Amino acid sequence: AQLLARSHELRERALVRTPGGVHSNVRLGGPQVFIEYARDAWLYDVDGENYVDYLLGQGPNFLGHAPRHLVEAVSSACERGLIFGGQHKLEVEASEVVCEALGWPDMVRFGVSGTESVQAALRLARAATGRKRVIRFEGHYHGWLDNVLAAEGSLGWGTASVGQLPGHLDDFAFVPWNDEERFARAIEEEPDVAAVIMEPIMINAGVIEPAPGYLDAVRALCSKHGVVLIFDEVISGFRLGLGGAAARYGVVPDLATYGKAMAGGWPASALAGRAELMELFDKGGVNHSGTFNGSVVAMAATHATVSHLMDSPPYERIASHGGALMDGLRGIGEAHDLPLRVEGLPMAFHVSFGTAEVTDYRSLQSLDLDRYARLVPELVAHGLWVAGRGVWYVSACHGADELDAALTRFDKTLTDRA
Ligand code: PMP
Repeated sequence: AQLLARSHELRERALVRTPGGVHSNVRLGGPQVFIEYARDAWLYDVDGENYVDYLLGQGPNFLGHAPRHLVEAVSSACERGLIFGGQHKLEVEASEVVCEALGWPDMVRFGVSGTESVQAALRLARAATGRKRVIRFEGHYHGWLDNVLAAEGSLGWGTASVGQLPGHLDDFAFVPWNDEERFARAIEEEPDVAAVIMEPIMINAGVIEPAPGYLDAVRALCSKHGVVLIFDEVISGFRLGLGGAAARYGVVPDLATYGKAMAGGWPASALAGRAELMELFDKGGVNHSGTFNGSVVAMAATHATVSHLMDSPPYERIASHGGALMDGLRGIGEAHDLPLRVEGLPMAFHVSFGTAEVTDYRSLQSLDLDRYARLVPELVAHGLWVAGRGVWYVSACHGADELDAALTRFDKTLTDRA
């Protein structure tokens, strides 16, 4: 067993100055490991252990850790001293390359986090329609602010918070994912609907794809009712392919939000959309501000990441690695006679125990999600960096060595616990 003495010591220090320790985002059921440095698809902790990383910070490190060309692009912007709030060429270049890569949007506005870009999208939709309410989907996640954070359970994904504004979800109507009829009824019957927001593939909760034709039906009903369709592509954007879920499923939203993979791990997000909506930030009195929006560091990282994805698309390689990994994990499950379930897409898939057919958030609950969550600390202790929620992310840096390490370590974890 790993002793992790240095991590333990850092953890003790962290608890003194930060409530519950540092970086709550990685407290996902695993041991409290502190990382010393990261390269490509590997993390190295302060005690000298290594981990093959299939979490990637919940998705952002799509090109791996510390890719040379990204580090150089960001460093070079910093060297030029462009660390100020003001107009600079990099934001122009980033906006051009993002719109070009995505294919459908006319315009973009950058933010720092996915949460913020979602807020901007909802504000814009309300401004455009003069209406207030929003239809959303059970199990979909849209950030951690008061007005969107829903309780785990029948409605949302995430954790409702003590201290959250009372009545914070009053302006939302929740419908189940992949249920065309329920959606049609909601958009016809709910009053005052400005927008529909969704993860076009429900990645946070179970990586559940839209049923064939489902997104088309939602698109058509939004158009019919003059409701703004927002794709929250904070995870799926640039990960499923250059054009994200919109391109994969061939459905164009009115607005979409991006983050995570877009800047290769640096903090940047974007709201993109049709000009007639986006222009409201300029001519319609809709506020979009923030000291660090469009920061030089974020724009250098965004421009370098998206340009790289366009020049040398890693998607086929990632799909082939992810596919082999999914097959390998399934094989190990069978060899151990366990109902291991590995479903989703090669670039982001979900691991759990169970055999239920899963189409939405409710059916997802019939899997034994806790059983997998209990396995995760052991996987981490065996050098496999994954999270309790079961979503594995693949990067452009994962190759044969990582595949071998992942399968060997997964198998050894199951053997050791048997
Ligand atoms: N939308 C989706 C679909 C997300 O997955 C996330 C983050 N997990 C967010 C919004 C919020 O983004 P951020 O954490 O960068 O604020």
